[in-house]
Amino acid sequence: MPATAYSVRFARELDVDQLAILMTGENPTSGRDGAELLSASGELIRTDIRCSSCGKFGARVVRTAKSRASKAVLRQAHFRFVDPNGGDAHHPFCEFHGDDENRSAQASLLDFGSEKSTETRAVRLLVCKGIEQKLFDKRRIQELRQWFFDLKSASRFTLTTSPEAISWTRALHRHPRYQRWTFHPAQAEMPAFNWKAAAKYQFTEDHQHLFDLIKGIPIDDGICRQAGELLRKHYECQVFDPTVLQRYYDGAVSLAAFVAANGGIDFGKVRPEYYRMKGPPVALLALCALVLFVSDWDMNAAIAAFSRLLLAPAPTDLTLGNVIGLNPFHEYAAWRLLILSAQVAAKSLDGLDYDRQLVATEAALRERHRRWKEQQS
Ligand SMILES: [Zn+2]
Repeated sequence: MPATAYSVRFARELDVDQLAILMTGENPTSGRDGAELLSASGELIRTDIRCSSCGKFGARVVRTAKSRASKAVLRQAHFRFVDPNGGDAHHPFCEFHGDDENRSAQASLLDFGSEKSTETRAVRLLVCKGIEQKLFDKRRIQELRQWFFDLKSASRFTLTTSPEAISWTRALHRHPRYQRWTFHPAQAEMPAFNWKAAAKYQFTEDHQHLFDLIKGIPIDDGICRQAGELLRKHYECQVFDPTVLQRYYDGAVSLAAFVAANGGIDFGKVRPEYYRMKGPPVALLALCALVLFVSDWDMNAAIAAFSRLLLAPAPTDLTLGNVIGLNPFHEYAAWRLLILSAQVAAKSLDGLDYDRQLVATEAALRERHRRWKEQQS
C-alpha cells in the first residue's frame, strides 16, 4: 500500500497531505486531515494519481487509522489502487500487487520527511541539494522507477524454485568450504579419528561445482526468510528475472561504498567495505541508483555529480525531496537467492538434504576404510 503516489497534474510524487494542500489550497489539521480534505475529490484522484511503481491508475485515498485508546497511528493515510471490478489494479509485477492492508506502507518506501536515522538525514539533505542544483528532479525520479519497472517486466520466467533448494543453498553457504583435506583410509587408523570432520572435508571435495556457483554471494537468515516469503507469494507464477538488475545493483553498491568512504559524511554504522556483503544503507543505495541513472550508469560521471552535490551550499528548501520513493533494488538479494537456489538445485544430483548427505558421505568413507582394511589383512 503506497504512502506516496504520482500526480500527473502536479508532475510529482506526493503523500496524501501534500496532495490535499495542492488540490484544495487548505492545510490539513489534526481535526481535518488530508484524507478528509480530499473526500470530495475521489473522481479527480482516480484519473490523476498513478502508482509510482507500475504507473496504473485507480487510486483511492485510505484514511489514517488510529488506536481508540492511545490515539497512536496504526496505519498512515495512503493510496489504494482498485480496478473497475473492485480488484487489485496494480500490475502483477508491481511490488504493491497483492499487498494486504496490514503490510507496512513504508516497507519499500524511503521517507526522507521523517528523521529516523543518520543516513536518512544525510541523504535527505543530498536529495534536496540535488534538486536545487538541478542534478535531478521529480520527473527523473519517476523515470528511474519506470525504467526499472520496464526492465523487470521485460524479463520473465515462471518461478519453480523449491523451498528445499533455498535451505540447501543456505546449508552450502554455511559449510566450511575453505578447509580442504583429502581422505585416505589409512588416516582412520588414528585412535581418535574424527569421522564427522572427515565427512565434511569429503563433502567439500564432492561439491566444488556448487561452491563455485554461490561464491561471493551474500546469504543470511534475513535474505532466506524473505526469499521464502516471495516463494509462497509467487510460486508457479511469472516473475521478473533479477539477474537483469545485477550490473546496476553492483554499480550502485560500488558507488555507495565510494561515496561513504570519500564523501566526508557519516552514513551510519556499517563500514563501506562491508556494503557488498551486508548491503549499503537503503536510503544511500536509492540515491546512488538515481545519480547513476541520471549519469547514464557511468561511474565517474556519477562520482563527479556526487562531488558537486557534496560541495554545493546547504539547500534553502528542505521539503523539495522529502520523499524519493522506492528503492529500485527492493528485495533484490532475496530474488537473487531464489534464482541461485534453482541453479544450485539443478546441479545437485544427490538431493537437497544437507544432513542426509553428510551421513551418507560418512558411511561411504567408513565403507572405503573397511574394504581397505580387508585388503591389508
Ligand atoms: Zn503498482
